[in-house]
Amino acid sequence: MIIDIHGHRPGRQGLDVPGFQWRLTSLPDGDISPDDVARILRESAIDRMILSPTAEDMGPTAGQMRSGNRRVAELVRKYPDLFYAYCSVNPHYLPESLEEMEYTVHELGFVGIGEICPHVLDFEIDSREVRAIVEKAVELDVPLNIHSSEPTHFRGLARLAKEYPTARIVMSHLGGFRFWRDGIAAIEPFDNVWTDCSAWVMCTMGAFETAVTTLGARRVLFGTDFPLCELDMAAYKLQHSGLSSADRERVASKNAIELFRLAL
Ligand SMILES: [Zn+2]
Repeated sequence: MIIDIHGHRPGRQGLDVPGFQWRLTSLPDGDISPDDVARILRESAIDRMILSPTAEDMGPTAGQMRSGNRRVAELVRKYPDLFYAYCSVNPHYLPESLEEMEYTVHELGFVGIGEICPHVLDFEIDSREVRAIVEKAVELDVPLNIHSSEPTHFRGLARLAKEYPTARIVMSHLGGFRFWRDGIAAIEPFDNVWTDCSAWVMCTMGAFETAVTTLGARRVLFGTDFPLCELDMAAYKLQHSGLSSADRERVASKNAIELFRLAL
């Protein structure tokens, strides 16, 4: 079984981050329905996916944050055998974010908080607002997935991990495409931090193997950043990595099941 712990519900443009647009060959043109997303996952080598909203649904208003979460909830409700959900938060709307965390975890069964995106919404990872979000995640007993693509991200994340040893934190993208070796080294001392190999960093030679050698297989998770990466390409990279079959199984699904306490 392969569980992708890092997917985004595709928006109209696929993944639409300011200044960067990418559209998968497997996505249909125009609006993308929940059925399209389910079909793409079913036709791939990946079995389950934990979804957060697309970047265009993360802000800039609190209303957009909420409706982005509702769109993900709709997918999970329609296809409970395929999807789980993260609650997206916006630190610029702290009271609304804390309320949203409580509601989505308790009422909608969301399994984590994230992807927390400082590059999309422009905030510091270890700001007062993000600390309050981490404290709430500890109270709700769910993991947080925090984006990292540069040293300020993984250094801030390491400070959070040290300050909140009971928080369970996933550092996205092995720390970042250009900085993944430094990202892995930055979280190595903290047993409460995992990493996912999502996005193009997984294509880098030795990325999976280095993460597992440095952190242990227990702290490495499979993710794609769908719709950024083609699902089958990502699954192929894992299946043909140099990991032992036991380590590969951990990365592919076991760690995700344990960390997010997934009911299969
Ligand atoms: Zn990210």
